[in-house]
Amino acid sequence: MRIPGWMAAAALATLAAVTASGTTFVVPEDEEMVDKATAIVIGTVEGSYVQERDYIETVYELRVERALKGAVRPDELLRIVSIGGALDHRGTIAPGSAHFVNGERVLLFLTFESQRWQVTDLILGKFRFSQTPLGEHVLLRDEVEISGWDRDGTVHRERVRREDGFLRFIEQRVRGRGAMPAYFLAPEPALPQKEKDPFSAVIANAPFRAYTYTDNVQDNDSPAYLPSRWSNIAAGVQFYKTSSQNISGAADGGVSVIQNGLAAWNNECGSVINLIYAGQRATGSTGFDDISVVEFNDPQNRIAGSWGGAGTVATTFISYNDQHNFDSMVWWSIGDADVVFQNGYTAANASFATAMTHEIGHGIGWRHSNAHYIRNADFTDAPCNAGVEECSSSAIMNSSAISSLGFTLQTWDINASQATYPGGSCGGGCTPPAITAQPTSRTITAGQSTTLTVTATGTSLSYQWYQGTAPNTGSPAGTGPSLTVAPSATTSYWVRVSNACGTVNSTTATVTVTAPPPATATRFFTVTPCRLVDTRNGGPVPGEVSFTVTGRCGIPSTAKALSLNITAVSPPASGFMTVYPAGTARPGTSTLSYHANKTRANNAIILLTSNGQLTVFNFNGVGATHVILDVNGYFQ
Ligand SMILES: [Zn+2]
Repeated sequence: MRIPGWMAAAALATLAAVTASGTTFVVPEDEEMVDKATAIVIGTVEGSYVQERDYIETVYELRVERALKGAVRPDELLRIVSIGGALDHRGTIAPGSAHFVNGERVLLFLTFESQRWQVTDLILGKFRFSQTPLGEHVLLRDEVEISGWDRDGTVHRERVRREDGFLRFIEQRVRGRGAMPAYFLAPEPALPQKEKDPFSAVIANAPFRAYTYTDNVQDNDSPAYLPSRWSNIAAGVQFYKTSSQNISGAADGGVSVIQNGLAAWNNECGSVINLIYAGQRATGSTGFDDISVVEFNDPQNRIAGSWGGAGTVATTFISYNDQHNFDSMVWWSIGDADVVFQNGYTAANASFATAMTHEIGHGIGWRHSNAHYIRNADFTDAPCNAGVEECSSSAIMNSSAISSLGFTLQTWDINASQATYPGGSCGGGCTPPAITAQPTSRTITAGQSTTLTVTATGTSLSYQWYQGTAPNTGSPAGTGPSLTVAPSATTSYWVRVSNACGTVNSTTATVTVTAPPPATATRFFTVTPCRLVDTRNGGPVPGEVSFTVTGRCGIPSTAKALSLNITAVSPPASGFMTVYPAGTARPGTSTLSYHANKTRANNAIILLTSNGQLTVFNFNGVGATHVILDVNGYFQ
């Protein structure tokens, strides 16, 4: 059985800000996870189904094998709800929520809230059983998703836990016995914290197409993954604050941070992003009501558990129910994006501003800057692939928020904005380039030329064409908005459009080259009957032989077709002959059928190729046959 095709997973699945250096997030200690979970179980996912409550959500059926904590019996079937899924061409993306593939055996930290089982702290509460190359049994959490910072300010690297030691630690902790986390496979090298890119005049240079910057979501009855964006963000997308929920520690309840988070994306001058703070209203987070809200304190328990100084900060629930065309592709139309902050999380956390900007970024379509645009089968982040997409670990959209960035977009964030919502102007008289019509693929005949054209908007554009596939710049092919080419074989081309404030690559257009077709004739001219071919003067036709027939018997080189009499002379066995223009596919019908040892003739009108050749194909299964071609007229 297949998991519903769509995805989820990935938001600020994480963490708190605490260290004195102002850096950023802390991955919770294992004992905190043990203490906050309602139940901890080992089990196997036996099935799943998609349902709609407030959002579309997926229910996973987990057969419990062993319970380490909580009132859960072995062999019990637990239904675990994770927001996210697709139904009838509508769907919800729930970045950060834990999802599963059927048959997956997992260790789960679970929280029971609102009469529902959910994974504690979304993706943080899920561990997979695995084995090292040396055969050691271990438990793994998704590594890309929860990269963050440890309490001492070093970069967190997900540690590998020995299965037996970790399970024993959990049981001892649950029984209230002092237990040391002595089950890590190897000491983790602490990496120095990465320097942030200074934010100076960033020249946008989106080297990849728009869809690679967004979360690509599979429809529930289609194998295709579609990227996601607002279909007309320039017209304004409104965000409200749920009026009953104020974040603790902010005099205005969080309003100004919402406004600044929206402004961070609006202020990206090379795009047309237009997010509007529309004030407070009673509406809470819910999918498909076409009302996007920021909701503090997770009053509806969208995120299992609560903030305890570490864990999940916020998640965005993105709903789509329509499609539109952009950049020569079909896209999901986002219709509703709700940002929900975990209960217990306060404005005093240093990550608040970055988290807000990051979650709103998910709400307008972005993937994580350090993850692939299509997720793993269980919807966790897959590693970013610099060969096909832009990758950065220093961006607002990095999977673990970098507190020091606040409301300041980085290069990846700017490129994503300009590629996906192009058309803005950056002052100084410079508008970044945007392609409005891509060069199109076409088919030509060998010897012909064709002109490829790109249409783009922007200030003082320059155009550089390349032979090959974008973004390969190995073979420059010309400049200007159009390129005339006459390849002798099928060849691909693309163009890079740039100016002082940006660069954009076109799609790749393929010029397919075919053999010249036979020409068409218009008038008929008779000639005195004349013998064009008589193989009795040479060798009989074994299988297939071509003859040049123009320039003889009064047939001009401009002849397009001949009126012929074809004769098979004393063939060795019964068979047939087919006469057709040289170099074209042999027709399935014969021109002349014959019997063994009987000379037979037939009339035919046969097209010629531009070089005046025709081909005789002979078949009788035994041997070569002499052929005579007599001409009595031609077309031209
Ligand atoms: Zn995120």
